Order: sequence, then structure tokens, then C-alpha cells
Amino acid sequence: MRTALLDWYDAHARTLPWRAAPGDARADPYRVWLSEVMLQQTTVPHAVPYFLTFLQRWPTVGALAAAPDAEVMAAWAGLGYYARARNLLACARAVTGDHGGVFPDTETGLLALPGVGPYTAAAVAAIAFDRPANVVDGNVERVMARLFAVDTPLPAAKPELKRLAAGLVTDHRPGDWAQALMDLGATVCRPRTPLCDQCPLTPHCAGFASGIPERYPLKTAKANRPRRFGTAFVQFDDQGRVGLVRRPDTGLLGGMLGLPTTGWDSTAPREELPGVGDWCSVGAVDHIFTHFALTLEVSMATGDGNLLWTPVEQARAGLPTVFRKALDRAIAASRET
Ligand code: SF4
Repeated sequence: MRTALLDWYDAHARTLPWRAAPGDARADPYRVWLSEVMLQQTTVPHAVPYFLTFLQRWPTVGALAAAPDAEVMAAWAGLGYYARARNLLACARAVTGDHGGVFPDTETGLLALPGVGPYTAAAVAAIAFDRPANVVDGNVERVMARLFAVDTPLPAAKPELKRLAAGLVTDHRPGDWAQALMDLGATVCRPRTPLCDQCPLTPHCAGFASGIPERYPLKTAKANRPRRFGTAFVQFDDQGRVGLVRRPDTGLLGGMLGLPTTGWDSTAPREELPGVGDWCSVGAVDHIFTHFALTLEVSMATGDGNLLWTPVEQARAGLPTVFRKALDRAIAASRET
């Protein structure tokens, strides 16, 4: 099974900007680490432009460590999970300050860095240093669940899937093995429609033998996300700027630039316009966070108050997605009037 998959990887590996070619164990640890942090909750196509921008602006871990927090947070905007951007900086500064700018080359050493969890430590150890680490992301979980026709539903099956994956890791090309499994999951053993006719593992796959491989992994029914409501306030001045605020360091989107808002804890829609000025309601936008769905009413006015006045296009580029949606709604409304 291992030979079949590694041969397949040699012929079909995805070309990704953070990767070394198959058989070449010299991927740059900085690139691998940066890509793995970005990819934790987003897709490869979405992450690639961010990765290239980061690499252009901060080509080394030392350059990233020296970057002002606000610039890194702004460059991260749109990738979501902003605590990861803060952890990224903390880790870059630890590598630079405590390790002379050189990433530790073992899973244990990597795990001791701030913000580096078991998955990232295993991925960097395997991909950048060719260590026999067990790298298990969602793709690998799916492949294991199908290969072994695991009947336990996720998330309860996670330890079992990890153990099954560990049983396939050896000292022979461990970095390529980790990436081969990831690539197989991403391109062939796809979530809804596995392309078994293109898969090198069919002779070994219990899911394929069952005739319904897409049945795996089984999942426990999810509870619906609760919906919350709030209002975002968009103020434009007469110089084409929008008024922003810096959000508190702790809490959702902490430390990021944002629009002024009400709290987001309301479970019912509300109209809450400030009592002064020419506020008008211009509609609402929806956004999905991990634990809740948000409907954000958008109110617009002209203003000159005590805010961070930022050119509109610059604001669009640096705002988290939920605020960019609200800003775009207001921009569209201002063009309609
Ligand atoms: Fe996935 Fe099909 Fe390959 Fe099994 S044979 S690993 S189900 S693509």
C-alpha cells in the first residue's frame, strides 16, 4: 500500500508554492510552517495568494518577527481565526529570539513553540525535516475512515483514525508519505465523490470493497448553529474615508481593525441607531462564524468623529471579511442614493 501511494505521489503531487518536489526533503521550514498555519481552517486556493503576499513582504521568519503587529494583522485579514495571526507573530519572535532564527527540527521542539499545536508540529517535522511524524488532518481522517471502513462516527472516531494512520508511518520518505496522503484526500478520495477509479489504493480499501465508500467517515448529526444579531455603523467623511476602530485584544476578531458595532450577543433583530446624525439603515449582511451565524444590520451616515479615518479601498483590503461585507453593503447603498 505504501509503495503504491508513494509511486502515485511521485507522478501526481500537487505543485504548491511551499513545497519541495517529491523525493526532495529540503522544503523551507518557514514556508511549511506558514502554510500549515494558514491552511488550518481554509482551503489551498484561498490560502495561496495570502501565502505569496506574506512571503513577498516577509521572506524570512526574522523579517516576520520584526514586522509591526498591525501590518501582519491587516495582511491576515480575510483568512479568519485571527488568534492564529497573533500566535504566528509570537512563534516567529520565539524562533528568532530563542532559536537564532532556525526552526527546531523535531516534533517535540516544534511543539514547545508558542501557538504550535500537535498537528502543526507533526506537519512541519514531517514535511520540512522528513521526520516520521503522524500528520492527520481532515483529508487523512477521511482516507483512513474509508481504507479501514471505520464504523465509529466522527468526532468520536478521531483517536482510532489517528492510530490507524500512525500504523502506516515509517522512516522511509515520511515527509512525502504525509503529503501523499493529504493529496490523495484532496484530489482523489474527495469528500462527496471519491474517484476510486483513479486511486492507487483500491486493492487495499475496505470502503471501496463495501461499494459505498462515500458513506465514510460516518458523522454524528450536528446541532444547528445559533443565530445572533447586531448592527455595524459605517460612517464616511467627505474625503472618501471610512471611520474604523481597533477592536480589543481579547475576544472575537481581537486586535483587528473593524467597524464600530453594537454587541453581537442579541438573539433577536434590533434597530439601534445612534441618536445623532443622518443615520439610515441600508440592509444587512450574513456571516458564519465557527459557533454561530451572525446577521449584521448595516447603518450608514456621514461623520467626522473620533475614529480611525481610513481610505475606503485601504479599509476594504485590511478588514476581516464580516466587516468588509458590511462596508460593501454601505458602499453599494451610497451609490444607489
Ligand atoms: Fe478513497 Fe476510493 Fe481510494 Fe478507497 S479506493 S482510498 S474510497 S478513493
